Amino acid sequence: MKKIVIIGASHAGISCAEKLRRYGFDGRITLIDRIPGLPVQRPPLSKDFLKYKNVELHSFYLRQKEYYEREKIELVTGKDVVAINRESNSMIFEGDSEINYDVLILATGADAKIPDYVRKDISNIYVLRDNEDAVRLKEGALIANKAVIVGGGFIGLEVASSLRSIGLSVDLIEFAPRLLPRVSSQYISDYLQLVHQKEGVSIHLSQSIEEVIYSKFNKVEAVKLCSGKILRCDVLIYGIGVSPNIKLANDLGLSVADGVEVDSSYLAGKNIYAIGDVAYSSGEFNSRIESVFHAQFSATVAAASITNSPLPSQPVFWFWSDQYDLKLQIAGILPKPKKDEFLRGEVREGKKEGSFSVWNWYQNKLVCVEAVEDSQAYMVGKRLIEQNIPISPAIIKDRSVDLKEMLKNLL
Ligand SMILES: Cc1cc2nc3c(=O)[nH]c(=O)nc-3n(C[C@H](O)[C@H](O)[C@H](O)COP(=O)(O)OP(=O)(O)OC[C@H]3O[C@@H](n4cnc5c(N)ncnc54)[C@H](O)[C@@H]3O)c2cc1C
Repeated sequence: MKKIVIIGASHAGISCAEKLRRYGFDGRITLIDRIPGLPVQRPPLSKDFLKYKNVELHSFYLRQKEYYEREKIELVTGKDVVAINRESNSMIFEGDSEINYDVLILATGADAKIPDYVRKDISNIYVLRDNEDAVRLKEGALIANKAVIVGGGFIGLEVASSLRSIGLSVDLIEFAPRLLPRVSSQYISDYLQLVHQKEGVSIHLSQSIEEVIYSKFNKVEAVKLCSGKILRCDVLIYGIGVSPNIKLANDLGLSVADGVEVDSSYLAGKNIYAIGDVAYSSGEFNSRIESVFHAQFSATVAAASITNSPLPSQPVFWFWSDQYDLKLQIAGILPKPKKDEFLRGEVREGKKEGSFSVWNWYQNKLVCVEAVEDSQAYMVGKRLIEQNIPISPAIIKDRSVDLKEMLKNLL
């Protein structure tokens, strides 16, 4: 095997190239992305990049130029792969040039969703997925006074926090009766709602947009909620989730559902892997996971499989979010309880004022710890879940128990 081509030079693609070299692959690696320039990290785009006027994209490069040169990773950016010929193992770029591969890795990620009812010729409607979106949003936000954000997930909340920091008034609309409906405990949802309200965000739960109101200058000037309420805005931002980039996988005839279906080595077809946000894993996760953690983990597994190295064991899922001056860290995944089952939650105050953690058990097993400004609780919870160490809610509730000491005794 001589040539590996990776489509998508973001968290998953770059991580995979790096791991291939680390596992000793010395053939040709080509990393392709349609976005021009050096690839940029995504998480800071809704956080520090948006929050600080003078912070520029180059502060967030995933790797510097010298890295690709040193590791002999051929980085081709500003090129869209438009078709792949599975018989000749070749792919075609926009403009008709071609490149061959022995192994193909699809790290094509996902695109932000935008509802069909939105007019496409409007300049003050935004999504946030990549650096081009982020630059456009920042430019728009810096000359705006009022923002309406649709979606109370992590992106919506982080954007709300950053826009409040630069002085915009913010209305946030969420369809569900609570914030972060898919990914956090009720306690964290309620807590973040209070934090955002205290910071001046108007939150509209169980609401959706009935009508977008356009001005005669082809701009959005307001939205009408299903309650009838009108919210004026200079910028309208959608943070309503993503759709995986499955076009190439479909063309290749791979099995595709909500993402490219892969096995436990992230293999999607003969000599074709899919990793990161685009991969739908039927393994332990049994879903498509959108996070830096999964981008890196799936990249490592695919690289190990390609180089016949031992596959890494399944680590515990982790995630973080920064809002205002708060850091939320999550270890483990909250399962959706079946009918007649429930999650047991315990809240533990941290050492620092205002810090706390929410510990969640499912079927008597600790499955997820959500920590606000409490990295010790996060680290200890992560280790307990990782090592499958049983722990009772009563111990976690007991403030006289020192978490670090407890972990030391349990290991
Ligand atoms: C604003 C923002 C904040 C986030 N914050 C966090 C956070 O705090 N913590 C966390 O864990 N996760 C966070 N995430 C999620 C995380 O960034 C994603 O899970 C991660 O980027 C997934 O990496 P990926 O490489 O799989 O896909 P992507 O990052 O989506 O990259 C896919 C790449 O493929 C390219 N591509 C697709 N099709 C083609 C083609 N045909 N030809 C050429 N190139 C193509 C695209 O241009 C893109 O660059 C955040 C995401 C965003 C957008």
